[in-house]
Amino acid sequence: METQRDRLLARRGAMRAGGFWREDTLLDHLARAVAATPDKPAIVAHRSDTGRETRLSYAELDQRSDLVALSLRERGVSRGDVVSFQLPNWWEFSVLHLACLKLGAVSNPLMVIFRARELGFMLGLAESKVLVVPARFRGFDYPAMVAGIRDRLPALRHVLVVDGAGENAFDRLLAPAVGEAGRASLRGEGPLPEDVIQLLYTSGTTGEPKGVMHTSNTMLSNLAPFAERLHLGAGDVIHMPSPLAHQLGFMYGIVLPVMLGGTAVLQDVFVAEEMARQIREAGATFTMGATPFLNDLTEHVARTGQGTPSLRVFVSAGAPIPRALVAKAREALGSAIISAWGMSENGAVTTTRPEDPEEKTTSTDGCPLPGMELRVIDPEGGVLPAGEEGRLQVRGCSNFVGYLKRPELDPTDPEGWFDTGDLARMDGEGYIRIAGRSKDIIIRGGENIPVVEVEGLLFRHPAVAEVAVVGVPDARLGERACAYVRLRDGASLSLADMAAYLDAQKMARQYWPERLEIVEELPRTPSGKIQKFRLRELARQQGEGA
Ligand code: ADP
Repeated sequence: METQRDRLLARRGAMRAGGFWREDTLLDHLARAVAATPDKPAIVAHRSDTGRETRLSYAELDQRSDLVALSLRERGVSRGDVVSFQLPNWWEFSVLHLACLKLGAVSNPLMVIFRARELGFMLGLAESKVLVVPARFRGFDYPAMVAGIRDRLPALRHVLVVDGAGENAFDRLLAPAVGEAGRASLRGEGPLPEDVIQLLYTSGTTGEPKGVMHTSNTMLSNLAPFAERLHLGAGDVIHMPSPLAHQLGFMYGIVLPVMLGGTAVLQDVFVAEEMARQIREAGATFTMGATPFLNDLTEHVARTGQGTPSLRVFVSAGAPIPRALVAKAREALGSAIISAWGMSENGAVTTTRPEDPEEKTTSTDGCPLPGMELRVIDPEGGVLPAGEEGRLQVRGCSNFVGYLKRPELDPTDPEGWFDTGDLARMDGEGYIRIAGRSKDIIIRGGENIPVVEVEGLLFRHPAVAEVAVVGVPDARLGERACAYVRLRDGASLSLADMAAYLDAQKMARQYWPERLEIVEELPRTPSGKIQKFRLRELARQQGEGA
């Protein structure tokens, strides 16, 4: 897969010299865990629909991923091909990633919330050769959705279905024609450390999703210092309630446990009570999720008194973290609450440390992990002194290697500084606090809403003359989307009409604005740009008045 090769090569020398790129892959870590602890549980996966729990030891994880790799190879998948999987947090997810690694193929995890509109675009851009979907999840028929877009996807050769029957059943992948004997033939087919191994779409600010590409070097160089800082090791049991198709779930729910030789516990539908039960039952020591996960677990434990005594660390990341919540969560859960900031493009860049004083723990989003640098700049690009708010830029080992087929969208400058689209302040000791965003996205419960795409679609509605979508604060989800619309003369539009329209356009439900305000005109700057900050203020006032 095409990357900006020259830039990558230039980075490589410095990253190797610094000891950040260790030039290995997850397969090296897997082999080590299989050799050391073949019978140790690698994955404990819960299915909320059937109540079934699947446990895979390291030896079984290795075996199943070998078998799936062989079957994918028999279906024509080879080095550099993209394999997409739109799956909940099921064991098949982890097995597929390892199988892709074993073939040098590229894993393309896709969120289960994506509907035909998002999926069609993403599979098309990636030219995915294989897609794996569930037969059903939360009542939705995935094969039917895929059938509706398949004729637009000439590269897609196979659609495999977890819980499916017949030829295309995922289970068939566990029985390759070559059988167990073929396993040895896979050795040595894995990726080089600088090959692209993951393609993960992130909400665009340009009207379409962007395909973030990572290599083993960029991904693993984030996880090693992360584990070291948080004192994680083979004895840790990692509970993952966040979607594995987000970078957070993928890196810290699939890759990290294997790297440590620890155990991953996967939750497919987030319910706080069930999360607490799974943590207790598995003796989980570590978990990670966006603010609503922390909020709901804290509320549950505080209300019921049924705690999570084994839990040592909860990392909260992916959305603004209210300070009061950190203190409240620590008291209820009795674990260290670590705030982190990161992006799909670079993983967790900053975290607080378990040893930090109170003031840092509760009022910052942490300091950079080794191998990463941060700076806060003014609009002219000058570096700002401590305490001043500006644009946050990041540079270092875990920065991605580009956006698929859209190199022009990569905001990394020739010196390696990546412009994050976030606003921050940095204190004298290098700890940051995210203060806002310059990019136009809304973060609803850790899920990023691509505002430009939603506006673009609403703009095509016959009743809409003008539209602007803004985030309004929400106690549980952080933000929700509100659409401000100026109607065409004589037209009308209700919230239900808007929802029905977006549904018909097959846009993921989580992106639909939950509030609609009809206005005579939208506030503009003298140059004609819509003033979203004024709409946010208005939305807040209208919300209070409601
Ligand atoms: P993830 O998969 O971690 O959610 P995304 O790339 O989807 O990553 O979203 C990254 C964005 O989430 C950041 O650019 C920032 O706007 C927001 N974010 C992440 N962590 C924090 C934090 N601690 N505080 C505020 N915003 C955050």
